[in-house]
Formats: sequence, structure tokens, C-alpha cells
Amino acid sequence: MRLLQTLVVILSIVSVPALAYHSIRQYTLNANNNSSNVAQTPQRAQPTPTPSPTPLPLPPPTVKVDNYRAAAGRIIGAALTSNKGYARLAHLTDHIGNRLSGSKNLEQAIAWALAEMKRDGLDNVRGEKVMVPHWVRGNESLQLTSPVSRELMVLGLGNSVGTPAEGITAPAVVVRNFDELDRLGEQVRGKIVVYNAAFTNYGATVQYRQNGASRAARWGAVAALVRSVTPVSLQTPHTGAMAYAEGQPKIPTAAVTIEGAELLQRMYDRGDQPVLRLKMEAQFLPDAESANVIAEIKGSEKPEEVVVVGGHFDSWDVGQGAHDDGGGCIIAWEAVRLLKELGLRPRRTIRVVLYTNEENGLRGGNAYRDAHRNEVAKHVLAIETDSGTYQPLGFGLAATATPQARANMQEIAKLLTGIRADRIGANGGGADIGPMTREGVLGASLDVDGSHYFDIHHTPADTLDKIDPQHLALCVATMAVMAYTVADMPQALSGQ
Ligand SMILES: [Zn+2]
Repeated sequence: MRLLQTLVVILSIVSVPALAYHSIRQYTLNANNNSSNVAQTPQRAQPTPTPSPTPLPLPPPTVKVDNYRAAAGRIIGAALTSNKGYARLAHLTDHIGNRLSGSKNLEQAIAWALAEMKRDGLDNVRGEKVMVPHWVRGNESLQLTSPVSRELMVLGLGNSVGTPAEGITAPAVVVRNFDELDRLGEQVRGKIVVYNAAFTNYGATVQYRQNGASRAARWGAVAALVRSVTPVSLQTPHTGAMAYAEGQPKIPTAAVTIEGAELLQRMYDRGDQPVLRLKMEAQFLPDAESANVIAEIKGSEKPEEVVVVGGHFDSWDVGQGAHDDGGGCIIAWEAVRLLKELGLRPRRTIRVVLYTNEENGLRGGNAYRDAHRNEVAKHVLAIETDSGTYQPLGFGLAATATPQARANMQEIAKLLTGIRADRIGANGGGADIGPMTREGVLGASLDVDGSHYFDIHHTPADTLDKIDPQHLALCVATMAVMAYTVADMPQALSGQ
């Protein structure tokens, strides 16, 4: 009983807060920072390692990991000596570019991936149709008009409405958090609210981006600007999804840089009464046709049982979507291609899924669940890779995993000790696999050293030069060894 209570407490501490459209990885600042000094001195996020595996006595693993050492060696060697994955990521980012839902780039990427997967000789290559929202940014600008005239960096938030053609000109009210906003209340009516919320961790700080517009609109604000959700900045604005609350006026909303937010804070605190003019052409067009990209290595003995690996193929409309999530897609795809090339055909099917529309709708993840509802029970494991392409650390395994599944994954991870990717974290998952894991599929995430992920996340700086080819190769090796062994082990991963 005592043990059970302890487990419940541990699980509640490590559980990942659900948030639409985003896999939330927890990164926190040093505990004793307060928001005011963070705002003056932007500080680098320290990744909080996923807590170590639940200290329960786990059952002995049923997988015989020694039987897989030779295969793991071949996989790791092939991954580290191949340039195919990096070359494909270069094509995706440099030649096709960023891939917002509804864009020609995304559809070009999907067509290219389907053709290449067929060339790889993978099984059952197909696109599964998904209708996706089609939001377009258009031109946008932000001007400080008083006390001095100055152009400020701005980047509209995904799903925002636009402004009238002449823009919205209004005095700025700068707040550091929702409490300050609510204390001002009616005083923000007719004003532009600027949230200068310092980054603590992604899950907490992203609330201002997601909900800031409607919270300000409730008090009569005419627009909302949000300090970019990042620990550091070189005048880099970060976009991302926002959502309007029912029953509040829809006001335009955009991100400013840390530098811009701090400038406005200083002026506001001095009583300079800054005035801003925001122009945004953002609008929704009719839904567009898109697709989840799917390919398989068909299992030799239990083809109906499936291990799913994947990331999301769409990205924001700035930068190249290299870390988010072009790299994740290539990791999953290349893992499967390497197994095929090495002639390693597991007992169960391994399926790669490149989901569409994670960033501003999650329609791909929902459509996959709907299209595969009748085989949900046959999904042994779904792994998502959407935390950036960095040095792999191992996997985060859903806290709901059976002790047998956890014991087996920990055992399999020993094959990855030589590349330092053998940690099985106490929790894991992802936005795209969320819909199926809520139906009972066991979920996991590829865990990486994400110390610098939020420096460039959703910015024009998420480009191929930020990807270390060695990290990409190590991620491919990690994913391929885990997926192959789980798919091939004669026993059931979860132990039934
Ligand atoms: Zn992503």
C-alpha cells in the first residue's frame, strides 16, 4: 500500500501536462530565479532530466538482449557511416523549406517522401488523406510610434486574426503575468496588452502565447503581444499556436522578441506611455487537403502487430522546420530504411508515420487514430520524436507502462550504452501519438539533450546548420535499435 501511494505521488509529479498542439517537454530554470531578475537577465534554460525510472522492483525482463547485440552493432555501425539521412534532411529543408499546413511546400514534401519511400523498397507506402486548416500569415509589422518612432521585430501567432488594413494603434500596457493584467482590469480597455513573461519552462510560459489574447480581450484590450517563449534571444521572435476562448472577442496577437518586450517594459515603467501600431494580414483560407505519410516493414510472423515510429512533417512558416520536426521525421524514416537495407525484418511490423498538421491543428494525429481504430489493440508501442535532433539520451516511456514493458525497455536500452542513449525516463509521449495513447496504445518519446531547443524553436533560425549530422546519426541508431528489438522480441513487450 505504502509503495502504491509512493508510486502515485511519483507519477503525478512527472506526468506531462496536456496541451493542445504541443508535446511539452519540461525545462526549468534554476529554482531560485524570480521573474523580475530573469526579465532583466535572460538566462539559459537548464534541462531537467526526466526523473529516473520509477524505483519499483521491476520484474525480470523477458527479452533476451544478448540475442540482439549483433543486430544492434550492425544497426549502429550503419547509422554512423551513412549520410543518407542527413542528405534527405538537407533536401527537405534547403530545397523544399518550411511546411505550414495548407502550403505548397508541405504537399511537395509529402509527394517527395512517398516517392522516396517507394524507392527505399518499403512496404505499404501510402498517404492517408487529412483535411487541414489553412492559416496564412501575410505581411505584418509593429511600430513604436511614441515616445520615439521605431520598427520592432514581430511575428504573428498561428491562428490569430489579422488587423484592419490601417492597423491597430493604441497605448501599450506592459504586464509580467496574468495577475498583473487582472489587477489592472478595466484599465487595459482600448489598449494593446504586452505580456513580458520571463521563460520558466515551456509548459508554463506557453500559456501566455496560447491564452494571452482572450485573457486580455476579456478586459477590453484591442490586441495582445507576447514575449517570445524562449530563454534566450538574439532579436529572434518565436511563433506558435494560439487559441481563442469561446465568448471573448477575437483580437490579433503576435510575438515580440525579449529585446522588444524589455524595451517596452522599461518605457512603461518610466511612464513614457509607449504607443504601438500593429498591422497583420493573417487569415484563414478554406481547409486544404493534406496527408499522413505512412510506410512499413511488414512483420515476418505477426504482421498485424505494429510498432509505430514518427514525427510531424508540417512546420511553422519561418525558418526551415529543421529541428521541429524535419529531423524527427528523418530519424524515424531513416531508422526503418536502415533496417530494410540491412535485411533486418522483425517478427512484427514497424510502421513509420509522418503526421501532418501537428503545429496548428493536430489533425494528422487525430486522423491516424480514426483511420486505425480497429487495430489500436495491435499497436505494441508508438514512439514520437519531436524534441529536436540532438544527442540522444534514450527514451521517455509513458508512466502508464506496465512494469514488464518498463523492464523490457530498460533491458533493450542496454544495447545503447555504448552511444550513451540507454536511459529510460519515467514518462514520455508526444502530441501526434496523444490521440492513440488516450485509446490505450503505449507511448514513448525519443529523449534528447534539449538544452538549446527553445533557443530556436518556432523561429527563422530553425535551419539545417543547427543540426549536427553526428547527433542525427546517433538518433537514427537509437530509434532503429529500440524499434527493431521491440518489434522482433518473441515475447510481448508489455507482458500479457
Ligand atoms: Zn514539433
